[in-house]
Amino acid sequence: MNSSHLNIKNWTRHNLREWFQNNQKSSSGNQSYRADQVFNWLYQKRAQSFDQMLNIGRETRKMLEENFYISSQKIADSLHSQDGSIKYRILLEDGNSIESVFLPHKNHNTICVSSQAGCGMGCDFCMTARMGLIRNLKPAEIIDQVFTVLQELKENKKIRNIVFMGMGEPFHNYNNLMQALEILTDEHGFNFSHRRITVSTSGLLPKIRRFGQEKIKANLAVSLNGVSDEVRTKLMPVNKAYNLEKLIKACSEYPLESRKRITFEYILIRDLTDSLQDAKGLIRLLHGLKFKINLIPYNSTADGKYQAPSPQQARRFQKYLLDHQIVAPLRISKGQDIQGACGQLAVGAE
Ligand code: SAH
Ligand code: SF4
Repeated sequence: MNSSHLNIKNWTRHNLREWFQNNQKSSSGNQSYRADQVFNWLYQKRAQSFDQMLNIGRETRKMLEENFYISSQKIADSLHSQDGSIKYRILLEDGNSIESVFLPHKNHNTICVSSQAGCGMGCDFCMTARMGLIRNLKPAEIIDQVFTVLQELKENKKIRNIVFMGMGEPFHNYNNLMQALEILTDEHGFNFSHRRITVSTSGLLPKIRRFGQEKIKANLAVSLNGVSDEVRTKLMPVNKAYNLEKLIKACSEYPLESRKRITFEYILIRDLTDSLQDAKGLIRLLHGLKFKINLIPYNSTADGKYQAPSPQQARRFQKYLLDHQIVAPLRISKGQDIQGACGQLAVGAE
């Protein structure tokens, strides 16, 4: 490979099909199904080289080799938590690193992926924010995280969910996110169900609206974290541009598939967001929406700026919601001991 080669995993099957149509010699007729075969080799058989693609003619393989390469990622290090979750630091081609987390559950497993190196949203409680935005990830860099983690796991673990809750604001990298989703869900490729993919946003309204209109209907999660503009703006600068009223309106207009709902993530921070008044405010705010709430007790960061709620208060908060028939799992934070929990992902910023 030389630097003029293109990373084939940045290409959707549709793009690749066009490429074949434009590049096949006229004598070979319509060969657009080649794109289907290549996808199968890349994402089902996880081929590492074009030589392996045996049902594709030698000429075509040569042509692919002259133009493309197949990327793979290196794991720089990994941290294993007592609860079984594993945080991987993955090295990108340009020397930057990102993090992906494997989260085992009783009956299923989840992979949490990053969409950017760093993040530019500046949330006050979040470790990734301290890095600032380094750059957007390419589609290949997003999807490779899934394959890198799968390959690294010793036993053959099945993944039920992919969540975009690692580093970065996925909607700040919208086009690459959508291409990555297209590739992951492609029936000729990895064929992962869009119903088991969740994209979490800090609340970029125009992109929430656009996401609702997409053909690929992945699940939407919104990081709420505060029930008044005052508190939410303090925690999340994005609230200045898109305040709670606008955010909730956009959520109420969001087209949901049947039996689906929006997930709101709500961080419980001691004496700031964890009172029963807040719980009441939450119910009032979300009234009329189809939703569930993921309660995330704040994971303390090194600076000690905010505190985790007491376990009793977290339970009280949850009980208040449950008593009002609201689905509100209290996410016992995974990977606390390895700083691999949500919002603790940062490289070199600890
Ligand atoms: N940028 C996207 C997705 C990644 S952040 C977003 O903000 O939605 C994933 C989740 O981790 C968000 O819901 C965020 O509110 C939460 N989070 C960030 N820092 C945290 C911390 N220190 N403790 C607990 N949750 C945190
Ligand atoms: Fe970025 Fe999400 Fe962290 Fe906010 S919470 S800084 S949007 S990663």
